[in-house]
Amino acid sequence: MSDPGIVVIGAGQAGGWAARTLRDEGFEGGIVVIGEEPYPPYERPPLSKEVLLGKEPAESSYLWPEGSFDELGIELRTGVEATAIERAGKTVALSGGGTVAYDKLLIATGGRVRKLPIEGEELEGVHYLRGIDDSAAIRADLGEGAQLVVIGGGWIGLEVAAAARMLGADVVVVEALEQLCGRALTSDLAAYLLDVHRGRGVDIRLGTTVEALTGESRVSGARLSGGKTVPATAAVIGIGIVPNVELAKAAGLEVDNGIKVDALCRTSDPNIFAAGDVTNHPNGLLGRNIRLESWENAQNQGIAAAKAMLGGESPYCEIPWFWSDQYDVNIQLVGLPTDFEETVTRGDRADGSFVEFYMKGGRIDGAAAINNPRDIRFAKRLMQAEKIVDPAALADPSVKLQALLRG
Ligand SMILES: Cc1cc2nc3c(=O)[nH]c(=O)nc-3n(C[C@H](O)[C@H](O)[C@H](O)COP(=O)(O)OP(=O)(O)OC[C@H]3O[C@@H](n4cnc5c(N)ncnc54)[C@H](O)[C@@H]3O)c2cc1C
Repeated sequence: MSDPGIVVIGAGQAGGWAARTLRDEGFEGGIVVIGEEPYPPYERPPLSKEVLLGKEPAESSYLWPEGSFDELGIELRTGVEATAIERAGKTVALSGGGTVAYDKLLIATGGRVRKLPIEGEELEGVHYLRGIDDSAAIRADLGEGAQLVVIGGGWIGLEVAAAARMLGADVVVVEALEQLCGRALTSDLAAYLLDVHRGRGVDIRLGTTVEALTGESRVSGARLSGGKTVPATAAVIGIGIVPNVELAKAAGLEVDNGIKVDALCRTSDPNIFAAGDVTNHPNGLLGRNIRLESWENAQNQGIAAAKAMLGGESPYCEIPWFWSDQYDVNIQLVGLPTDFEETVTRGDRADGSFVEFYMKGGRIDGAAAINNPRDIRFAKRLMQAEKIVDPAALADPSVKLQALLRG
């Protein structure tokens, strides 16, 4: 019997990158990646953008062409769920019976959609969006005459709303809070996004909830708080995700809004690591623990975990970055600003391209940009360098941010 090597639970973005990095870093032992979905590792962002719009096939979201793991000598077991971790014997139990032994284990189980427990949630035409099949099912319901109700005015809901409008559907977005994207955006920026959607003809109801989805076997309407029912041929519920921590918890690992890991992605068991949406990890630059649901974190923490599993000692520490595309509007955020003192705006909102910098103690604590990816890149570098910057210079588009880096 060959020596147990490294086992990865979760063939998503973090798990996929970790497995690949192990080989890139020269690890020659066995690597087994267990994924419950029937697909090779893929990226999810296109599922609410290009793939939902039908501009790209689902396969375009695969991290690498099918068969790449075979070539790298990585055993990919798709359609298999890891059902338990037995830490004493260092094995993982699999659905369908059988176990796989590990020397080191990576948990990259991501998250699953948060369910909305309302009447009618099980009706045909009611969707959540996490995977390839969900995206295809939503797309199939966005044909001619579609009337879509989106529950939740967060990133997923708004991207779906944008795609649906672009495909010609009538769209109502129902959001419980008084602003879009809750905690992620300032009220100012949320108001800008609201105008973007309303300007494209989306009917957005803030401070409103869906009390029930109605219909016989298929959804035909959504009953809103206040009593009115809006017609619907389909509904998409986008109210967040729940980290898949159950395996870790049952194995006795420390869990608290995600699997607790240190800066080397180690859980409370030195042979078990975790990466991606499922982790609650320290961020030295922010000085606190965070759990992120972001593409960049999934990839880079996956890579960092692989290196740490091979004995690397570089802590994983990056300023969070996130983006969203809605119509022709690209939104990018850096940092997780909390109690900033001042907002500095660069550029003109009316032009549809501007940046907001959130300042604390003379430094940039975070920034958000509409259609200005370049300035966001420099904002991130200014944050990394912990530069004290003059707000007047930041606000002046004729001053290049690059120059502030040198200053
Ligand atoms: C529609 C959509 C759009 C997005 N858009 C953006 C965006 O624009 N920008 C951005 O920054 N982020 C975006 N994200 C978030 C980003 O995709 C996630 O942060 C990222 O996918 C997390 O990767 P992960 O590997 O941690 O988890 P996941 O991608 O969730 O992968 C985890 C995998 O583990 C599998 N798994 C779980 N439990 C088990 C088990 N017991 N056994 C076997 N397999 C298991 C799951 O089935 C899944 O395949 C988007 C997400 C979605 C759903």
